[in-house]
Formats: sequence, structure tokens, C-alpha cells
Amino acid sequence: MTDRTKIVLKSGKDQSVKRFHPWIFSGAIKKTYGPLAEGNVVDVYDNKDNFLGCGHYQIGSIAVRVLSFEQINIDRSFYYARLHSALQLRKQLLQNMPETDVYRLVHGEGDLLPGLIIDIYNDTAVLQMHSIGMFLAREYVAAALEELFGDDLQHIYCKSSGTLPKKALEDVEKNFFIKGDKTFGVVQEYGIKYEINWLEGQKTGFFIDQRESRRLLGNYAKGRVVANVFGYTGGFSLFAMENGAQKVHTIDSSAKAIDLTAKNVELNFGNEHEHKGIVADAFDFFAGAEDTYDLIVLDPPAFAKHHNVLSNALQGYKRINQRAFENIGENGILFTFSCSQAVSPQNFRKSVFAAAANAGRKVRILHQLTQPADHPISIFHPEGEYLKGLVLHVE
Ligand code: SAH
Repeated sequence: MTDRTKIVLKSGKDQSVKRFHPWIFSGAIKKTYGPLAEGNVVDVYDNKDNFLGCGHYQIGSIAVRVLSFEQINIDRSFYYARLHSALQLRKQLLQNMPETDVYRLVHGEGDLLPGLIIDIYNDTAVLQMHSIGMFLAREYVAAALEELFGDDLQHIYCKSSGTLPKKALEDVEKNFFIKGDKTFGVVQEYGIKYEINWLEGQKTGFFIDQRESRRLLGNYAKGRVVANVFGYTGGFSLFAMENGAQKVHTIDSSAKAIDLTAKNVELNFGNEHEHKGIVADAFDFFAGAEDTYDLIVLDPPAFAKHHNVLSNALQGYKRINQRAFENIGENGILFTFSCSQAVSPQNFRKSVFAAAANAGRKVRILHQLTQPADHPISIFHPEGEYLKGLVLHVE
């Protein structure tokens, strides 16, 4: 601990970290004492020599991701303690999640482990590192997982090639098994089965964060004609079918996604069903739609990856929601989402408001949704709140 490099912040730039915000921006740094290697743990001080926190250093706009606001060793027992408390919370949540074996164990800043995502797929853990420091700590993380789960965890896959900075550790393999070798498996979410391939699938294989919204959709599905637009593995469609929808269409621009949906439909309902998969761009789909739907899901990928493309993204949300309002039948229900971190709940709601006004439809908000509790948000790190959803009644 004593040989850690010391970083001193400019006066006045210590306020957010004193309020437990876990990011130190490079512009806040006044001086460093000692070598700076990416991924190393550094100590951060204010300019009056008061210790503020320690965390992983990295070149870039976020220079330090704070792991602790106390001056402690960041070693094997540190990772064990953090993972232990993450697991305690999930065990509590799982008590009210019957027939569910897929969940997020670690959600970065929300679990005081910035840069680390861990998703559990039954007997497999998929690790996704967003910082070099976390990538370098993978053996500690894996050891903690093995100790905590024992025989319940047979496979650990590290999937970080898409999330680490492109130039970091150029010659190092970033996708590999730390333990075992299982590449895909069947998991369940409230009794609905999915085949997930963590090697080839998007993100760690599945959009775990929509679990509660998918279940909620089941409450509205009976007798309805459903369009699940941006469907991916078809989760919303499966819950609609399970709950008595009259007809369900899943739309995605990726043929692979529609194949995955078809597989999951068969896994749950066999060959006898009223489901159709459609490979199409969402905008083209609405332009040529032959059916009128009375339950529509819009769950697009992040339209704004950065703040500087925010206005384009808001236009995108307005346009796609307007298409849905123009198509949806009387007494329709629209589940509409944004997973862009840069788009605030207020801005998203304004875009949907403009879409409803343009389409001339009367709309009421029934539910305001966000990410589930296994994706916790540190109150000091509002950036961790990324998923927003509205369930709307359209007259
Ligand atoms: N609702 C899904 C997750 C959606 S992820 C779930 O519950 O798991 C977003 C999906 O949108 C991806 O599968 C991607 O292939 C698809 N997509 C991206 N752009 C699209 C477009 N322009 N039209 C239709 N689908 C698109």
C-alpha cells in the first residue's frame, strides 16, 4: 500500500469524490508522485494532503475509478468481500424470483466495483471488464467466485474484447475461459426458458436488465396482438405468449436475433403457436405493417452513446415512438424504452410526448420503469441509471 502512486487533485476538484462519486476526471489532477501505469491502484488526495480514495488508474477522461474511500489494500480479500456482499443482495432478491437462474451479480459502480460486470447464467459466470485495472484483477475475481459458489459454478468466461479500450493490452487475448469451457446453455427467467450463447450473443449474451419489464408485459398480454420491436432473443414475445396473447410478432434487423427468438419459442411452446419472426428495420416494418397491433414493445439499442449525439438520439426516439403511436389500435398498450445513459428520464419522456402529440393520440402513463434491483444505482453516481421505460395506454 505504501508504494502506491499518489495523485493530488486541484483545489475545488475534490467535491464530488468527497460525496462518494467514484470517478476522478483527468482534468481534476494537479500532480502525481510516482509512476503511472494503466491498471495500477493509486491513492488520491486533496490539495491539503487529505486522503480521498484509492482506485484503478487509466489513461482517458476518467483517470481513476475509485474502489474504496478508505485507504485499504486492494487484494484478494478486498475482492472477496465486495463479491460476498454483492451475492448477499442477490440471494435476497432471488427469494422473490422463482424459477430464475439468470441474474446480474455485479453491476460496476452500483456494487462498488467500477469497471466490472458479472452476469450469472445458471452454472456459468460471464465477466465483462470495462477497465484495465479490473482486467488485471481477474484472477482475484475468479478466485472469489470459486470460493463463494463452490460446485454451483462450473464455468467462468471473461468477455472483454468489446469493452476494454481498443489500444489497451494490444497483444493480450481478452475473451477466454478462466474455468471450464461451456459456450452456451439453457437458463430460465420466471419459468421462461432461453438458450443463451455467451460467446456469440450481444453483451454477455442476454439483456438481463429487462427481466421485470418482460414479466410486467405478461399482465397486459391476454387476447392482444403484439409487436415486439427490437426483440433480440424474444423475451417480451415469450412472456406475451405465456400469458395468452392472440398473435405475437417479433421484429429485429438481425437475422441471427430472429433465429434465436424462433429457437426460444420452440423451447417453450413447441411447434404449435401463433408466433412470427420478421427480419426488418424497425422503421421499414412500421411503414409496411399489414397488421394493427394493440400491444407494442419498443426496446431499441442505445441511440446516444455520447452526449454530443444527444439531439439526434432524441429525434430517433421521437420518430420510432411516433410510428408506434400511428400504428397502435384503440386501447393499445405501448411499452417503450431507452437504454442510452446520456438520455435523462425527462428527455426521454419529452420525446415520447412529442411523438404522441404529432400522432394525435391521447396517451396516459401507467408505469414508469427502470433497471431491476440486481442492477443497483449508487445514489452518488447518477450515471449508473441508464434504463428508462414507460408503459402507456393509448386511447
Ligand atoms: N428487447 C430485447 C433486447 C433488445 S436489444 C430483450 O428483451 O432482450 C436491441 C435489438 O435491436 C438488437 O437485437 C438489435 O439487433 C436490434 N436492432 C438494432 N437496430 C435495429 C433496427 N434499426 N431495426 C430493428 N432492430 C434493430
